[in-house]
Amino acid sequence: MEKVNLKEKIRIIPDFPQPGILFKDVTPLLKDAKAFAYAIDQMASKCSSLEFDLIVGPEARGFVIGAPLAYRLGVGFVPVRKKGKLPAATIQGEYKLEYGFDVLEIHQDAIQPGQKVLVVDDLLATGGTIGATVRLVEKAQGIVSAVVCLIELTYLPGRQNLKEYEVISVIQY
Ligand code: 5GP
Repeated sequence: MEKVNLKEKIRIIPDFPQPGILFKDVTPLLKDAKAFAYAIDQMASKCSSLEFDLIVGPEARGFVIGAPLAYRLGVGFVPVRKKGKLPAATIQGEYKLEYGFDVLEIHQDAIQPGQKVLVVDDLLATGGTIGATVRLVEKAQGIVSAVVCLIELTYLPGRQNLKEYEVISVIQY
């Protein structure tokens, strides 16, 4: 596949959602068919030596990246959602926000004990979201093979906070 400069397709938005944050907006990349396909292919090729049965992704951008990656790798996709959104019985996990806590859920029967899982999101910052997703997978008795992100902010401690896991990213800032 023809090489694409993916960073050119990511728009930096200063002061979103708060002053001082340089938000990496992936929507220009997603709407560009070649860039989107190239990004998913790059992620897929970095997973080729791993063993996994499923991809688990947190809402909302974890769906946008995780679902095509699952299709590309020939495995199923399992959503992790905020509390109250999943229709069947769930397992819950709390995670810390800047102020207070939020709750993430996964369907109780989504992962069979011992199944190997890739946890996928668009971006790894502090690792809070992925960390909470990893803990949910483990509560469901899944085994996390690796964490896979399109973008990694290497100036934040995401990788350090996930040091027990293999962390794979395609684009680094
Ligand atoms: P963390 O939990 O690692 O601190 O933050 C990562 C989560 O917040 C991801 O689910 C990601 O979608 C979202 N996020 C945080 N900062 C950014 C950003 O600059 N760009 C995008 N696209 N998502 C972000």
